[in-house]
Amino acid sequence: MASVQSQLVVFDFDWSLADQDTDRWILEVLDIELRRKMRTMESEGVEWTDVVAQTMKELHARGGTREQVEEALRIMPFHPAMVRGVKRLKHQSTPKTTFLCLSASNTVYISTILKARGLEELFDVIVTNPAKWSDDGCLELERRVAKGGPPHNCPNGCGPNMCKGAELDAYLERTGQKFDRMAYVGDGSNDFCPILRFRKQDVALVRKGRALETRVKHEAEKYGLKCQVKYWAGAWEVEEIFNAF
Ligand SMILES: [Mg+2]
Ligand SMILES: [Zn+2]
Repeated sequence: MASVQSQLVVFDFDWSLADQDTDRWILEVLDIELRRKMRTMESEGVEWTDVVAQTMKELHARGGTREQVEEALRIMPFHPAMVRGVKRLKHQSTPKTTFLCLSASNTVYISTILKARGLEELFDVIVTNPAKWSDDGCLELERRVAKGGPPHNCPNGCGPNMCKGAELDAYLERTGQKFDRMAYVGDGSNDFCPILRFRKQDVALVRKGRALETRVKHEAEKYGLKCQVKYWAGAWEVEEIFNAF
């Protein structure tokens, strides 16, 4: 096999780079009534980013502060093996590794957590929902694909707010970069679309016991998945795979 000189490592954030789900965790820490409401709204078919935007507005109205949200983010589970694994790859000169994040969380959550873990320089680009703090400390969250905006028309089952496959294509096209190898670390149903772009020399690191594993096992043939697949359960296994890169 030709040696790998350059590689792109793409990370989903929730349950992939981080060992929890940001949106749900915040309310599990700060307000379980609103955590329950999230589930109710989701079961009623409200789009997920709208669920998070609405419940975070309510948290603020009930007295939840920016400082409390930031502290909850800083203590969110994040495995030390994942920190070691990505730092080692980042600092290794050959192959040269570029990191890209594709996440349905939001800019505020991701940047706060990366800073707390000393990983604020990790990603070349973070593609996610835009968010900011209002002057009085309310998280203001918007959809990546605006409601009523042009749809992404993805045929691979992506939700209306983001097609990670199209985002990966756009990143590669925008930067004009070519990589000897691409790797993708993911767990969710919406992580299936981007790995359909992968070639046979690329590798998907699929978390066990979650929706992506189910899609890979049942839909790989139908959708023509070409890349290698490695399964992992704990972050230490991702570190192990990275150590062999
Ligand atoms: Mg995820
Ligand atoms: Zn898609």
